[in-house]
Amino acid sequence: MKNFEYVRAKDPAEAVRLVAERPGAAFVSGGTDLLNLLRDGAQSHDRLVDVNGMGLDKVTIGARNVRVGGWARMSDVAAHRFVRQRFPVVSEALLASASPQIRNMASIGGNLLQRTRCGYFRDAASPCNKRVPGSGCPALDGENRWHAVFGGSDHCIAVSAGDLGVSLLAVDAVVLTRGPRGERRIPFGDFQVLPGDTPHRENVLEHGELVVGVELPFSHFAGKSTYLKLRDRATFEFAVVSVAAALDLRGRHVRDVRLAFGGVATKAWRSFAAEDALRGKELTGATIEAACRAAVSGAVPRTHNAFKVELLQRAVSRVLHDLGGVR
Ligand SMILES: Cc1cc2nc3c(=O)[nH]c(=O)nc-3n(C[C@H](O)[C@H](O)[C@H](O)COP(=O)(O)OP(=O)(O)OC[C@H]3O[C@@H](n4cnc5c(N)ncnc54)[C@H](O)[C@@H]3O)c2cc1C
Ligand code: SF4
Repeated sequence: MKNFEYVRAKDPAEAVRLVAERPGAAFVSGGTDLLNLLRDGAQSHDRLVDVNGMGLDKVTIGARNVRVGGWARMSDVAAHRFVRQRFPVVSEALLASASPQIRNMASIGGNLLQRTRCGYFRDAASPCNKRVPGSGCPALDGENRWHAVFGGSDHCIAVSAGDLGVSLLAVDAVVLTRGPRGERRIPFGDFQVLPGDTPHRENVLEHGELVVGVELPFSHFAGKSTYLKLRDRATFEFAVVSVAAALDLRGRHVRDVRLAFGGVATKAWRSFAAEDALRGKELTGATIEAACRAAVSGAVPRTHNAFKVELLQRAVSRVLHDLGGVR
């Protein structure tokens, strides 16, 4: 691990300044991802700015939304009574993430900014376009069981790792930031970007822009929502395939729906095609089957991950049957 300076910011404005003024600086919150990357030499920074202890670690209930502080702990947000009642998909996604010990340390902002688990990215000895632009992508023809079937490019097919972001898509969440050029509200659907020919860029944040919170708007669908995560083992493990679903049902009629997937794409993946197959229709076995087919249209499987296409359809089918009470 290379030496770095450690600074504790007194408020968000100072944290932004301390990172923005130094190209090699980064924020640190729980440190559960960043310190592993520093230790393994996959990433290096010459200054870490600690954002803890500056407020913004709470859940606040407003008239039109719930605000989650950027450095609220994952475990606190998952357990919050109001989040559990009104946004079950968010609570379930957080509870399905990592281990209790990590959830107690890790923050909401850090979770959204965690890096991919692609083994080539994490191994400093491997070439990797995301870590060293232009060095190549061994995953394209190598070990790609964990990699994306949606949103990849010839430069990178790494899966976006987190569970929380998938659930945020299903509730139309907005990311609140503070950066060198002021404050921004970024719909989570616009927050992450596809790799294209710049796989080192994973989101729309500029250097020194801090995630100060996430807004969860009240809606008719957020209250009837759930998260299904399929993984290689029941204890802490990243998703092979996950589905976040939210439904606004009137009788059997689908008034509105959100479907988002994890483990299968280079960013948290909202399936507008699968939603369109359901919206305005009666929720039946047949419409669910149509949604499952639509969910995988355009998938580009690789040598070792073709199984994800079938698995995703089964996961979508199970979630919609369970959430919609279709027997
Ligand atoms: C064994 C293990 C299993 C795991 N399993 C899962 C899992 O199943 N699902 C899952 O979702 N995650 C999983 N994780 C990842 C874990 O959830 C993340 O490490 C954690 O959420 C990161 O939060 P942190 O506060 O520790 O971030 P840090 O490690 O402090 O930071 C991570 C990144 O975010 C940046 N950052 C931190 N806070 C902010 C902020 N407020 N604004 C802007 N940038 C910021 C940092 O600069 C850094 O780049 C696992 C991790 C481990 C070690
Ligand atoms: S898939 Fe992306 S992260 Fe993995 S080796 Fe290729 S470029 Fe690097």
